[in-house]
Amino acid sequence: MDDRDGKIWQDGSLVDWRDAKIHVLTHSLHYGMAVFEGVRAYQTDEGTAIFRLKEHTQRLFNSAKIFQMTIPFDIDTVMRAQQQVVRENQLESCYLRPLVWLGSEKLGISAKGNTVHVAIAAWPWGAYLGEEGMAKGIRVKTSSFTRHHVNVSMVRAKASGYYINSILANQEALTDGYDEALLLDTEGYVSEGSGENVFIVKNGKLYTPDLASCLDGITRDAVLTLARDLGIAVIEKRITRDEVYCCDEAFFTGTAAEVTPIRELDNRQIGDGRRGPVTAQLQALFFDVVAGKAPQYRHWLTLV
Ligand code: PMP
Repeated sequence: MDDRDGKIWQDGSLVDWRDAKIHVLTHSLHYGMAVFEGVRAYQTDEGTAIFRLKEHTQRLFNSAKIFQMTIPFDIDTVMRAQQQVVRENQLESCYLRPLVWLGSEKLGISAKGNTVHVAIAAWPWGAYLGEEGMAKGIRVKTSSFTRHHVNVSMVRAKASGYYINSILANQEALTDGYDEALLLDTEGYVSEGSGENVFIVKNGKLYTPDLASCLDGITRDAVLTLARDLGIAVIEKRITRDEVYCCDEAFFTGTAAEVTPIRELDNRQIGDGRRGPVTAQLQALFFDVVAGKAPQYRHWLTLV
């Protein structure tokens, strides 16, 4: 990904894509303490707009706060920088990756004495779990790897090191011929995908795990809002894997994954084995919202 044209915002200014580099003795590279965001911008009739820019940027600052990393820019600057990156790279729709990391002043477990850096890159990225998955649903496997525990790593943060767990789970699922992993929490309840929140539909009601062990997903929050506004009952509660086997519909949400139906878990067909009607309704509304076609949710969009 390093050899391409374009600009990346790094520590306050735009640099050429190929020049956005760091030293091999960067603290975050060794110990994994960096925080990041995944954000998307979509084409709308008014121009390119970033979806829930404020919420993503606020979560980035919260993630940094959890690790006592002081971002040397204010939130408005980091929001404006994201708009600038999309504009400067002339992207109509894209994925954005803001990253906050510790510099290379010193190594050792103590992070003290290292400077805090920020970079923002953006590039086109289609359906994360594939166009076919988006339409027909994906095949998922319950992971042998357990999701984070609140007192091992703090899941309100979106931290780079946490993704070792995600990669292990995703790697295992893909090696075994599935499209994605579903991780359980330390007590065996459903938590989330390797990079997505999970929902199930049963008897017309929408269920999703509470936030004890999963990321407070911004797409999750959007889908909960859309569902409530459509008059669908939503319940946040502990969910067991056999509840997923026996539900009517299931889907993942995430900035990258958007709304992706799940058609199978652990070789058990879910519902009719294809995108269910509630999933289809929420997915269609979600894509209308991000494209600026649902005026009541216009406040979630920030033009670049
Ligand atoms: N859980 C994990 C582990 C993730 O990496 C993501 C993607 N950021 C999500 C859930 C979904 O969060 P969001 O909707 O804010 O992208």
